[in-house]
Amino acid sequence: MYDYIIVGFGIAGFSFAQQLEENNRNFIVFDNQSQQSTRIAGGMFNPIILKRFTPAWQAAEMLPYALLQFQKAELKYKKKYIHYIDIYRKLASIEEQNNWIVASDKPVMRDFMQPISKEKIEGIEAPFGFGVLKGTGIVNAGNLLDDVIKNLQKKDKIKQETFDYEALEIHQEFVSYKGIKARKIIFSEGYGMLNNPFFKQLPLMGTKGEMLMIETQTDIPYIVKSNVFMAPNVMQKGQFYIGATYNWEDKTNTPTPEAKTHLEMKLKQLFAKDYSVISQKAGIRPTVKDRRPLVGTLKKHPNVGILNGMGTRGVILAPSTAKFLFKHMEFGMELPKEIDIRRFED
Ligand SMILES: Cc1cc2nc3c(=O)[nH]c(=O)nc-3n(C[C@H](O)[C@H](O)[C@H](O)COP(=O)(O)OP(=O)(O)OC[C@H]3O[C@@H](n4cnc5c(N)ncnc54)[C@H](O)[C@@H]3O)c2cc1C
Repeated sequence: MYDYIIVGFGIAGFSFAQQLEENNRNFIVFDNQSQQSTRIAGGMFNPIILKRFTPAWQAAEMLPYALLQFQKAELKYKKKYIHYIDIYRKLASIEEQNNWIVASDKPVMRDFMQPISKEKIEGIEAPFGFGVLKGTGIVNAGNLLDDVIKNLQKKDKIKQETFDYEALEIHQEFVSYKGIKARKIIFSEGYGMLNNPFFKQLPLMGTKGEMLMIETQTDIPYIVKSNVFMAPNVMQKGQFYIGATYNWEDKTNTPTPEAKTHLEMKLKQLFAKDYSVISQKAGIRPTVKDRRPLVGTLKKHPNVGILNGMGTRGVILAPSTAKFLFKHMEFGMELPKEIDIRRFED
């Protein structure tokens, strides 16, 4: 008998598996790669909202634990997944300069926000300078998932197939699925949750995001942000992610010509050098009505859990919320109210 079945292996499923390994619980994973959010994401970690210069919910608090967990993966797989890269937020006016100065004096913010820089960046016109953020960067989550999945395959701990919800039997002390028994099961299917009869009533909205990968001769060692992000591809010098779009209507993983046009239009406003687009990718962010993660268990069946709703910040949120869920399911520790799915019950 396994301790857990994990359904869905993006950054949420991975983070929960990491908790299980650290606590000597055994598990088996089901994943069908129907959702792409973790794999196509930029993987940026940045606890500051760059539109308004305000802290993102719990992000500065959760970031150290997230980095610790990804560091442990680096040690285990002897690879570098965390890349610290400063963010250069292009400032658009004197008013924005003032807002930056005021915000960067506040607690939490001052740990990340640096003085305004007038540094010249090739191809980028910035008469009002850049607000610089330190302690930020990119986690190469796609690369990490590939390594973890290879390792799970070797140990025969992953089934790369669609989980059939109808075949799940839930008992008081265990669950059983096509001959596999486990004490508990958790679902972390990202936007795929809407096919899950146990949790599909939760208000997961889903926001499609598209990104371009471009190639250019210019070397920019920062993540530059204006009305798009231009972030270096940590695997390939001279390549940059350009993103991302937000679409609340289309729920497919198919790249669209409209998004390409839109991103290129914004890119041209930011970057004046030649480039070529080498690929385009799309995924659905598991966003929630109240913008908080979805964590908890079924009221009737405390051995059936969910870890979802990472929204636009999976890198920062997944490790801490996985720890909360593990402690809740194993030791009955209460979940923070903001993330507990009970908030949606009458
Ligand atoms: C364009 C874009 C850019 C982004 N940029 C960033 C960023 O810079 N930083 C950041 O922190 N976040 C970013 N995000 C958000 C981030 O990607 C998500 O918060 C995070 O990846 C969600 O992870 P997840 O594990 O919950 O879901 P997913 O990554 O979607 O994983 C869910 C997994 O479950 C599997 N699955 C679903 N149903 C089933 C089933 N029935 N049977 C078996 N398997 C199933 C899917 O195939 C998938 O592998 C971005 C997202 C997008 C789309």
